[in-house]
Amino acid sequence: SPILIWFRRDLRLSDHAALTAACQTGRPVIPVFIHDGLVEKLAAAPKWRLGLGVGALAETLSAKGSRLILRRGGCALSEIQKLICESGAGAVYWSRLYDPETVSRDTSLKEALQTDGIDVQSFGGHLMFEPWTVETKTGGYYKVYTPFWNNVKARGVDMPRGTPAALKSPATWPASDTLAEWRMDAAMDRGAAVVRPFVQLGEQAAQARLGHFIDEIVSNYKATRDIPAADGTSNLSENLSLGEISPHQCWHAGMRALQEGKAGAETFLKELVWREFAYHLMHHTPRILDRNWREDWDAFPWKDDARATEVRAWKKGRTGVPFVDAAMRELYVTGRMHNRGRMIVASYLTKHLLTDWRIGQKWFEECLIDWDPASNAMGWQWSAGSGPDATPYFRVFNPATQLEKFDPNRAYADRWIAEGRDAPHQDALSFFDAIPRHWGMQPDDGYPDPIVALDAGRKQALAVYENRRF
Ligand code: FAD
Repeated sequence: SPILIWFRRDLRLSDHAALTAACQTGRPVIPVFIHDGLVEKLAAAPKWRLGLGVGALAETLSAKGSRLILRRGGCALSEIQKLICESGAGAVYWSRLYDPETVSRDTSLKEALQTDGIDVQSFGGHLMFEPWTVETKTGGYYKVYTPFWNNVKARGVDMPRGTPAALKSPATWPASDTLAEWRMDAAMDRGAAVVRPFVQLGEQAAQARLGHFIDEIVSNYKATRDIPAADGTSNLSENLSLGEISPHQCWHAGMRALQEGKAGAETFLKELVWREFAYHLMHHTPRILDRNWREDWDAFPWKDDARATEVRAWKKGRTGVPFVDAAMRELYVTGRMHNRGRMIVASYLTKHLLTDWRIGQKWFEECLIDWDPASNAMGWQWSAGSGPDATPYFRVFNPATQLEKFDPNRAYADRWIAEGRDAPHQDALSFFDAIPRHWGMQPDDGYPDPIVALDAGRKQALAVYENRRF
């Protein structure tokens, strides 16, 4: 009987343990993607990007003589049960995910199918180290990155698997929805067409980018990774987020570069482990997703009005602080933001504007095509000071000195800010094509004065912190 391969955030054929295992049985394989309640709940950009990824996977499968069956329904279990009835499948395989909602859905789905006598198997692959397998000497979990890194770095990572030579088709294919009818772009009211050229779509593009990064970039990564105007990082987060590439593939490419003596390779490996650390924290303390990880921070007097004027200025890239504004516009146009930008805009929102980190987290979720629940939550709590191994609250980034240091020629600021420039950069102008009309902004508006003076904002944040009763 056929095996259903339920694709979720593992949109690739290479190094796919569940798919490899299914193909090795010699049984027919039915690849499936289900638009269930959890897909429905995704925010605008992640849902749109997922839709593109599903389309790319469907093409890759059909080039191999297979298909991707699409089904939509609020409850994944009933869609799978219907598929089992229609296809006579006797098994369902998938790659594990780790956020609490998915875990709870998958656990009950597995139980229900097993009760019906279906063989259900889940496989690793989204992570290199299952979160529950990394333990401190006393059997606890890690709250600090460096000892986590020291623990895992010597462990060895499974070698990536190849792509199965062939996927055996079933005698008859079950019916499928079409992707277009799902309208996964419906909430993308900002200019999806503007964002599209920045998308690095699918397994092949991700592999090509990894190769380019290892050949051309990693040697200088240690220095270039902090320069937002440079093409100085792997740019693989959107592909890792949807599993268009596996972390194992990235890790082993990094290890080969390390063995070839390429400087920067170890730093890259460490970044991959930050992603693992985020999942480790989410697994052991799921409250990191929506509550102050440090409970004593619950008493911090965060401003929590998402519609406040200053929050709106932050979202629109109109704070009058060039590094912050450039990064917020990069986010809106490309669906991504350089890591230095993420740290600076998050520090600015939570410290200079004293705004609840969850407001920023939510806006990132709305806009990021590399949105990842664990890395986004960890990044925001790290920046706000409320997380484990966080930057101390009293370390307030100064976006002006950061600009001098990391964008001395203003290449990044000029790329994204049109106002006040004689000949604005094309990308700076494309921001105005992406924004909704009601934002009421034009490229020839003057550049705003800072909404908060940097020094005064910093002092105010420190005063609140020092007077805290938490
Ligand atoms: P590279 O520098 O090439 O790093 C390689 C890979 O390592 C990345 O693709 C990513 O998977 C991982 N990585 C690197 N830095 C981090 C980090 N600090 N935390 C976790 N993993 C890391 N990353 C996301 O993938 N999704 C998010 O939603 C996200 N939200 C963030 C929010 C904030 C406030 C902050 C400060 C950081 C956030 N990050 C997030 C982490 C980081 O900014 C991005 O992973 C990185 O910018 C992606 O670019 P890259 O692929 O070129 O990274």
